[in-house]
Amino acid sequence: MDWLKQAQERQQEMIADLQTLVRINSVLDESTATEEVPFGEGPLKALNWMLQQGTEQEMHVVNMANKVGYIEMGQGEEMVGMLCHVDVVPAGSDWVHEPFGAEIEDGKLFGRGAIDDKGPTMAAWLAMKMVKASGIKLTRRVRLIVGSDEETGFRCVKHYMAHEEVPTLGFAPDADFPIINAEKGIAETTYRQLDVADHDEQLRSFHAGHRINMVPDFATAIVKNVPEEITAQFKAYLAVETLTGEITNDGANTFTLTIKGVSAHAMEPNNGVNAAVKLASFLATCLETATSKQFVDFIVTGFGTETRGHALGLAYRDEMSGETTLNAGVVEYEAGRIGEVRVSMRYAVSYDFDTFIAQGQRALINTGFELVIDDNSEPHYVAPEEELIQKLSAVYERNTGEKAELLAIGGGTYARELPNGVAFGMLFPGEPDIAHQHDEYVIIENLVKAAAIYADAIVELATTNA
Ligand SMILES: [Zn+2]
Repeated sequence: MDWLKQAQERQQEMIADLQTLVRINSVLDESTATEEVPFGEGPLKALNWMLQQGTEQEMHVVNMANKVGYIEMGQGEEMVGMLCHVDVVPAGSDWVHEPFGAEIEDGKLFGRGAIDDKGPTMAAWLAMKMVKASGIKLTRRVRLIVGSDEETGFRCVKHYMAHEEVPTLGFAPDADFPIINAEKGIAETTYRQLDVADHDEQLRSFHAGHRINMVPDFATAIVKNVPEEITAQFKAYLAVETLTGEITNDGANTFTLTIKGVSAHAMEPNNGVNAAVKLASFLATCLETATSKQFVDFIVTGFGTETRGHALGLAYRDEMSGETTLNAGVVEYEAGRIGEVRVSMRYAVSYDFDTFIAQGQRALINTGFELVIDDNSEPHYVAPEEELIQKLSAVYERNTGEKAELLAIGGGTYARELPNGVAFGMLFPGEPDIAHQHDEYVIIENLVKAAAIYADAIVELATTNA
């Protein structure tokens, strides 16, 4: 079957559908959310539009509580799942193109959701229609699972997994080609200072970061009862470290210090410059009162020289997924009230989480801090010898002529919700990732290529040799 030729012949149909879908503003909207409409009107409209396509194709369609739905075809005990989503992140600013206009220019379709994940969803959907039209006999059912809350907590697919049939195997076209088969575990943790009593503390406040999964690019602190020389010392520090920052004398021997860092995603903190760490490193040289010093010293010891968790008893690496990474993403201190560092920890697939956390607790003895686990999303891994990986590799290689490298990442993709599932496209190797940015686009030629790959994958996965 020449899937590419068929996909090319149906390109107009796919693009027209994608334009319709992109023009539905499906950002989570709490203002119109009710029990009936859990994520607001936009996401529901997009979900219903998608499910309507399945009804028109006379496939089996189910809407589950207006959170998630599926379109199914074929027969068989077992089922192949394709996990997509039709909600999008807010447009944000700086767009040249209309964010919900679905304009086409230079072979690209622009709009929020074009690559994340409406374009890939339409490629998977065209693939399903092409396989149906081909009349090829399948021995497993094929189900397109359509979520409407991927961007804000996975409440859609979590609802699905709690109430519906788990696919025998499947993929999510919501990340990169070739195949992401290893995703690190992601824990959200808090290092909390045990005694925050205000013994006329020099450090009055310290704040950095808004999101645990980003390296903070800004930090600010207020200190009092410090020598006048702090101004000169801070300026010298900034010069040596080639950092930007400011210090102002607020009178009454009180100073406000700010420092700029460089933001990056928590999956690789070394790509950024942590402003909180930089500011704490300076303050550690001039603060003397007990809880103030303990607070900044902890940041310096834990995160000052490396991001791999060595000082905190959490370092570990394995071949298939790499090292532990720690991102001190949100730092808060208010004299007499709170001292805490919130950390996004990414850990390897074979890491024994409970054992290491126990070790991490022991590493805190005498630091004046405790470790609290706020959330833990387990690692995700599908072994290379599994049927899923073998088949998707073969499909990718014969359609692209390129080797199907298996990728391991520190980020979490939608695929981690599928027990026997991987992320499979549709960004091709080397393509810039413009998801969540202004002027998000999808390259139409790649959309067609992806539809062909997905059609081939559906047939391969939904055919058992038995
Ligand atoms: Zn997505």
